[in-house]
Amino acid sequence: MAENAKAPGVAGDPTEPAALVVEARQVSKRYARTWALRAVDLQVVRGELVSLLGPNGSGKSTLLRLLTAVTRPTYGQVKIFGQQPRNGLGVRERFGVLPHQSYLYGELTAIENLRFAATMYGMLAERDELVEALAHVGLAHVADAQARTFSSGMRKRLALARATLHDPELVLLDEPYGALDVEGIGWVDRFVGELREAGKTLVIATHEIGRALALCDRAVALRGGKVVFDGPTSEYEGAIDGATEAVGLGVKV
Ligand code: ADP
Ligand code: MG
Repeated sequence: MAENAKAPGVAGDPTEPAALVVEARQVSKRYARTWALRAVDLQVVRGELVSLLGPNGSGKSTLLRLLTAVTRPTYGQVKIFGQQPRNGLGVRERFGVLPHQSYLYGELTAIENLRFAATMYGMLAERDELVEALAHVGLAHVADAQARTFSSGMRKRLALARATLHDPELVLLDEPYGALDVEGIGWVDRFVGELREAGKTLVIATHEIGRALALCDRAVALRGGKVVFDGPTSEYEGAIDGATEAVGLGVKV
């Protein structure tokens, strides 16, 4: 390895330890008799856009839940910004997440949903700021409508507004394309493109392989809770045969 080797995608000083945004070491997670994850290693550095690929049940959502402190690993260690994800404020406010289910409050209006999230992040958000966040996702005209009246595409937009309300450095998206029509998919692509332009670190779990490969620098593929590929998206298709579970090449970084 070259001296002063630069981690991929890191702007600035590569020796700065803070460049490592996500770190999972030998992480395993067991639910009753199911091993959802088995000895997973993952490192994501600042500014990277990583897609987490794999069929249903391969462990993508579990990995995101571990990273966002929704659940704990059975074995192994997870760190975000060099700290345990559960360390409360200081870590919490630095990441935003689009969970697999939106977890919006249907009885609350769009703006009330955002205000609730803002409080959780310790933000004192004025109505104007919240309306601006809604305008950014094309929902300003329904700011005072209850979320339960929204279509699935509108819910996704509101959940994305909530995930990014506090301008987090790290954004984790679980199936952002789920239940969207073509227009909605294009919209999510543009939203992700903006986050990328803004220099955010992104981890996107999806079974939409084509979209992920087009958007992301790096692919990490899971099968049965194990990492079977970790490398540049350009090498993914040659390494993984999607039809079978054959793996030609396991590129580890
Ligand atoms: P993916 O997001 O790739 O579809 P998941 O992480 O949701 O995969 O699931 C991985 C495995 O763990 C599956 O076998 C799933 O059934 C199991 N699993 C996930 N969450 C739970 C849970 N809360 N209780 C029991 N089993 C679970
Ligand atoms: Mg999932």
